[in-house]
Amino acid sequence: MKQYSIAIDGPAGCGKSTAAKEVAKRLSILYIDTGAMYRTVGLYCMEKGIDLQQQYAVERALEKMDMNVTLSHGMQKIFLNAEDVTEKIRTQEAGKAASAVAALLPVRQRLVEIQRSLAKGHSVIMDGRDIGTNVLPNATVKIYLNASVEQRTKRRCHELELLGKPWNEAQVRQQILQRDESDMNRAYNPLKKAKDAVEIDTSFMSREEVVLKILDIVKEKINKKETEV
Ligand code: C5P
Repeated sequence: MKQYSIAIDGPAGCGKSTAAKEVAKRLSILYIDTGAMYRTVGLYCMEKGIDLQQQYAVERALEKMDMNVTLSHGMQKIFLNAEDVTEKIRTQEAGKAASAVAALLPVRQRLVEIQRSLAKGHSVIMDGRDIGTNVLPNATVKIYLNASVEQRTKRRCHELELLGKPWNEAQVRQQILQRDESDMNRAYNPLKKAKDAVEIDTSFMSREEVVLKILDIVKEKINKKETEV
């Protein structure tokens, strides 16, 4: 198949980006992390002291910010007004701010436009919350990754431990539940499994098992499409 797209959606901490990056490398296709874009808008608003609930103020901020995304296989860099913020957006605060601005329609419209234009003309794997349902509704393969709240909490605590950051299991669990609540219940493009997505519960799977499972599904779907032609 000449060109194809893989949409990966799922809740915070289910292992989407780790799996998607690895799949991109193994298939030599582009990886697009859409959460990073919402995080960048959230970071900008935080730095400028903008009230995240005020749609008009966020909309004006959006006009002023210059966001640039560069892609290579399995790697994405994101620049905010020429500053490389790829690492800076990886905090709990930026994640929370991302979730707040992601509820606003003008933010979603602007970012979805960027995401679709990045995907144009390439084979891509894109991860987020609304990829299979909204950004790439005709994706060749749609996958919905899921994991129990307990496992997602454990993984997040482990990541914080590795980063040498302090953590509290009850707090981490609470943050995950809050993020689920806002991502699944917002008015515009909430997180949900697309009708034609394959669901994988990663709770008791290793990273490698998840990658291999996705590669199997991709192979099977692509073979099926090619024989249909
Ligand atoms: O995936 P990540 O945790 O980096 O995403 C941060 C936040 O951005 C999510 O909690 C969600 O609110 C928002 N998001 C979204 N739609 C996407 C990707 C992320 O609403 N496609």
